[in-house]
Amino acid sequence: MEKSNQSLKGKVAVITGGGGVLCEVLAYALAKEGAKVAILDLNTDRAVEVAEKIKKQGGEAIGVEANVLQKTSLIEAHQIVLDKLGACDILVNGAGGNHPMGTTAKPFLEEGDLENEDLKTFFDLDTEGIKFVFDLNFIGSLLPTQIFAKDMVGKNGCSIINISSMNAFTPLTKIPAYSGAKAAISNFTQWLAVHFSKMGIRVNALAPGFFLTEQNRSLLTNEDGSLTARGTQVIEHTPLGRFGKPEDLVSSLLWLVSDESSFVTGIVVPIDGGFSAYSGV
Ligand code: NAD
Repeated sequence: MEKSNQSLKGKVAVITGGGGVLCEVLAYALAKEGAKVAILDLNTDRAVEVAEKIKKQGGEAIGVEANVLQKTSLIEAHQIVLDKLGACDILVNGAGGNHPMGTTAKPFLEEGDLENEDLKTFFDLDTEGIKFVFDLNFIGSLLPTQIFAKDMVGKNGCSIINISSMNAFTPLTKIPAYSGAKAAISNFTQWLAVHFSKMGIRVNALAPGFFLTEQNRSLLTNEDGSLTARGTQVIEHTPLGRFGKPEDLVSSLLWLVSDESSFVTGIVVPIDGGFSAYSGV
């Protein structure tokens, strides 16, 4: 692990979904700044793998199995973090995602679509799929905050980072559940920021644009690496003309959790190559 100014030395950072593509990089960045990092994930192997990688690079980390939708699982994980690293100073609510059951086949409902039995339209969306997405993104951020933010009460320099998305500003076609759930995350970020303000706990969110990850790779690129129609649309709508890389999130994360941003709370930072600023014309 390269030397840095170790601005987070001694702090304990908990990152849910830390075994995932984006949060692995965030976990690594926090460790590089000297934080002791707990990688919480439903996928225990990935959590341990990320923690081992950090340790090999000279950082301090543990991988802990946790389901962000189960209070008992989070309470157990919290105890492990307390025993091995100490009380939580920084919480990154990174677990989240979409589900095909909350997704329509086409962006627009058009003449004749209802006669096509094979086409999943808005009318066919399964409420179980919608609930899954709302739970994973919203409840999956609320519950870890209930369990870990109690550690922050009475301490200085604590903060929470939620992960919102582009579609919280303007919904993306086909994914009403994910768009609604991320809009709820942006709103919750503001609500919590106000609620925790007298305790000095700051709450902010990152809103990544389009990052090429395993979840969306087949939607955005073909097997030969060329862009799909949707991928082309995204790039054409991104003034900076490329997909995001996980590393693009790091500087905003480090700024938001550091004392340099001590007067910043309740904001949602778009990291999107200008996507949310561009009307398309
Ligand atoms: P990812 O699928 O690579 O990572 C998500 C991680 O969360 C996985 O390791 C998974 O095992 C874990 N997880 C899933 N359910 C869980 C549960 N119930 N309890 C604990 N862990 C659970 O996804 P990613 O692309 O790295 O996304 C990370 C965050 O960023 C998500 O909130 C996602 O919605 C958001 N986001 C991603 C993009 C993008 O382009 N990839 C854009 C905007 C926002």
